Amino acid sequence: TDAGSQKDRVVTKEEWLQKWETGNIGFHKEQVHPLLQKYLDVLLNGRSGLRIFFPLCGKAVEMKWLADMGHSIVGVEVSEQAVKEFFTEHSLPYIEEPVPEISGAKMFQSASGNISLYCCSIYDLSSSTVGKFDGVWDRGALVAVNPQDRQRYVSLMITLMEKKSSYLLVTVSYDPNKHKGPPFYVPESEIKSLFG
Ligand code: SAH
Repeated sequence: TDAGSQKDRVVTKEEWLQKWETGNIGFHKEQVHPLLQKYLDVLLNGRSGLRIFFPLCGKAVEMKWLADMGHSIVGVEVSEQAVKEFFTEHSLPYIEEPVPEISGAKMFQSASGNISLYCCSIYDLSSSTVGKFDGVWDRGALVAVNPQDRQRYVSLMITLMEKKSSYLLVTVSYDPNKHKGPPFYVPESEIKSLFG
């Protein structure tokens, strides 16, 4: 297969915001992802009370599911609508505050303090703002990043990981000549070279 047909495709922030505004969010699922259930033990690796990162989080229901297990969740999402829908759909009261080190960014945090969602671009984050994580759930994230930004994305993710951290990545496999993405097709060979 030839992933070359997608390499120049760019989805802008405005296009993502529009998807949320028009409800064009077929990627959002109401049920916890079966692969997270299947590989939960790999993510946790016997540990409890982890800090778990959700890049490009949307309103993923898995954030609530893992928070209810006692983990603390940090997500990042450009759409404020998505972030607000997450809290309201789970009936979670939240507070909203500016993020002094990132201009224009806001942080939404559950009143209980265990779910913090940054509303900004992931490229605005660094470990000095969000710290490092024991685990990452990457579903609809690497595959949603513009193909030309993949290396930047992965390099950033690596800086956000603790030494003993687990990273669960979900990708999709299909003929990239038949669908323009997102989700983009990221060949396994590229995943290996990106993460090293
Ligand atoms: N991971 C989620 C959402 C996947 S869709 C899930 O499993 O349901 C990808 C999401 O990334 C969209 O909600 C989009 O608004 C958001 N997004 C796209 N580019 C982004 C960026 N640079 N920084 C943060 N969020 C981004």
